[in-house]
Amino acid sequence: LTTTDLIEEHRICVCVRKRPLNKKELTVKDLDVITIPSKDVVMVHEPKQKVDLTRYLENQTFRFDYAFDDSTTNEMVYRFTARPLVETIFDRGMATCFAYGQTGSGKTHQTHSCTCFTQTARDVFLMLKKPNYKKLDLQVYATFFEIYSGKVFDLLNRKAKLRVLEDGKQQVQVVGLQEREVRCTEDVLKLIEMGNSCRTSGQTSANAHSSRSHAVFQIILRRKGKMHGNFSLIDLAGNERGADTSSADRQTRLEGADINKSLLALKECIRALGLNKPHTPFRASKLTQVLRDSFIGENSRTCMIATISPGMASCENTLNTLRYANRVKEF
Ligand code: ADP
Ligand code: MG
Repeated sequence: LTTTDLIEEHRICVCVRKRPLNKKELTVKDLDVITIPSKDVVMVHEPKQKVDLTRYLENQTFRFDYAFDDSTTNEMVYRFTARPLVETIFDRGMATCFAYGQTGSGKTHQTHSCTCFTQTARDVFLMLKKPNYKKLDLQVYATFFEIYSGKVFDLLNRKAKLRVLEDGKQQVQVVGLQEREVRCTEDVLKLIEMGNSCRTSGQTSANAHSSRSHAVFQIILRRKGKMHGNFSLIDLAGNERGADTSSADRQTRLEGADINKSLLALKECIRALGLNKPHTPFRASKLTQVLRDSFIGENSRTCMIATISPGMASCENTLNTLRYANRVKEF
């Protein structure tokens, strides 16, 4: 991939990122069943067995805007996904970037800390210095919150539980959400660290918790107090579901059902955006309700990064992820 491959001007971008086999997979000699034969194609070589027990590989091909193989760096993925959306928020638009995939497939690796959140912030501050935008006198703010089991928690305010209200004009408001002014990339880094520590405190395992909640980091541009543009970067809950919905534990089942519901709603909202449908079914989940403004309006753009594990053991989850990502942009 080179910059000449950059697709300009699409409202919805869907891409896939494959991660390398990890230590654990290598230890158990899991096989890599994913190939990326070209810059926009993903192939899954699913092991199957015939009735007479002969084994064979069923090859399935998926096409996306971009397919990133396991040698692609975070910076490269960023350049093709979130980076093109930075302009959008300077043009009074709404941008969203989602990382979608099974737990352990690389969502947080892609979105968090030194990667996508801070790269986006860095480029926002660079753009602010351009004469065209400098004269607008924009201020930059950030929010960081988590949606867990249909409830919103402020990660910049000791995990305060927040109410979501909708007025008669369908305007959605997260009451009391802290918006912190940021003046440089370091400010943003500090907020992310603060939010992350808040996210995991009191939890038995950081990854177990984060896999069941959606984390939303927003960069908001304001002009004379009024919203000018908004960039939402979202690390979604893990999409693996089988275990959740069949779990004996009631809480786990409820969590699973809620994740299911919000990921389905998300798909429908992005599709509505792509189809230019007047009615967006944003009320179907807290996630889509809170992001409502990102799915409407002339100048809304979305990018989805579907992250996949290469291992044979993850094949079923990987196929689910690819089918979901495919469907987002299939009209
Ligand atoms: P998720 O957030 O989807 O549950 P993580 O982002 O936490 O998954 O990734 C799980 C592990 O795999 C982490 O240790 C992470 O550093 C590693 N990893 C993920 N994607 C990549 C990648 N593209 N290259 C190298 N390591 C990766
Ligand atoms: Mg994660």
